[in-house]
Amino acid sequence: ILSMARPITLVQPARLEIGAGAVSRLADWAEGYGRVFVVAMAPTVGFVDRIGLNGAVETFTDIPPEPDLPAVNAVLEAARVLRPDLVIGLGGGSVMDVAKLVAVLWDSEQTVLDVVGVNKVNGRRTALAQVPTTSGTGSEAGIRSLVTNPETLAKLAIESRHMLADIAVLDPELTYSVPSAVTAATGVDALAHCVEAYTSIKAHPLIDGYASLGIELVGKYLKRAVADGTDTEARAGMMLASYYGGICLGPVNTAGGHALAYPLGTRLKLPHGLANAIIFPHVLAFNAGTRPEKTAAVLKALGLSSPADERIVVDRAHDYCRSLGVDMSLKNHGAKEAQLPLWAEEAFAIKRLIDNNPRPMTQTDILAIYQAAL
Ligand code: NAD
Repeated sequence: ILSMARPITLVQPARLEIGAGAVSRLADWAEGYGRVFVVAMAPTVGFVDRIGLNGAVETFTDIPPEPDLPAVNAVLEAARVLRPDLVIGLGGGSVMDVAKLVAVLWDSEQTVLDVVGVNKVNGRRTALAQVPTTSGTGSEAGIRSLVTNPETLAKLAIESRHMLADIAVLDPELTYSVPSAVTAATGVDALAHCVEAYTSIKAHPLIDGYASLGIELVGKYLKRAVADGTDTEARAGMMLASYYGGICLGPVNTAGGHALAYPLGTRLKLPHGLANAIIFPHVLAFNAGTRPEKTAAVLKALGLSSPADERIVVDRAHDYCRSLGVDMSLKNHGAKEAQLPLWAEEAFAIKRLIDNNPRPMTQTDILAIYQAAL
């Protein structure tokens, strides 16, 4: 009920360019910015030409997936040489998260560690454009950046309104080259953002709207995008689903699913999307009894019927992820039983997400989920 909901703040990029070929419209907007620093990755560097930028353009292409602090510091050094007026993130979540930090830190006294947490960033003088090339994280929509601390292996979350893009360009043509395994995993990440926000203890009617639309789009288009990467309608649908998921991350955020996925990324080195896909069925089922109607709506949108039994919810959601080609066994990805207690401890410590879960989650519950996923 709207009047009973907690107050929330929803911010979005000031300008959106959406549609096939939209990336070519970025150059017009960027006119007047003399020095442009493009943050990219090997598979996305070829897209720089499609933007058609003028002026001094420097492209940094060495962003590793799931970037850590040294990786961000290397990009900051390169940016300090160019002294950019505009930073463009051209890639998946790994690239866009780094671009946010570069835009706020290259000319600042603050280090990445100084700004970990909420609202620690002093400000931003450099313009920021975000151009996603995967459909998963929705990072282009929001104000958060995630970086691994190699010493503690914790994912550090930096959240600041100064990291919100001035413009986001959603051009599904940039995702045609994403391999099917990455399409599947990142697509389930987008789904998980929507579902975790939709079923969260902090769920809000405004965000439920975006979450439901995102879930419907994933149900309709993810299988198609995995089966045929050049399916234009499916790629466009998934890009929108990812953006909707990104909107969910701001005012509501994720919950238990993402908390359990993080140690799989930092310890087992699984890509973020894959880690979320493996955990997704288990947390959906864990929460099913607490959010029966919303869980039924999720299953229906994915083309699955809605059983009352928690174990059958796991099986159905499992089959769905497997049908996308995701190997859902942690063991097959190299996990060992003896590692699970430490991961459970680490996941349980991510209180900012665990506390959002609709059904209270103990460390023992988390260990049981890892064991079931093994
Ligand atoms: P990613 O950016 O690491 O990209 C995955 C792989 O796809 C990489 O190997 C990349 O080179 C390749 N790739 C990207 N675009 C391609 C293209 N067009 N064609 C071919 N290959 C392409 O993966 P991701 O899932 O998009 O991002 C994961 C990162 O985002 C993690 O660090 C995660 O923590 C973070 N994240 C951030 C937010 C946020 O709100 N800021 C939300 C979720 C996840």
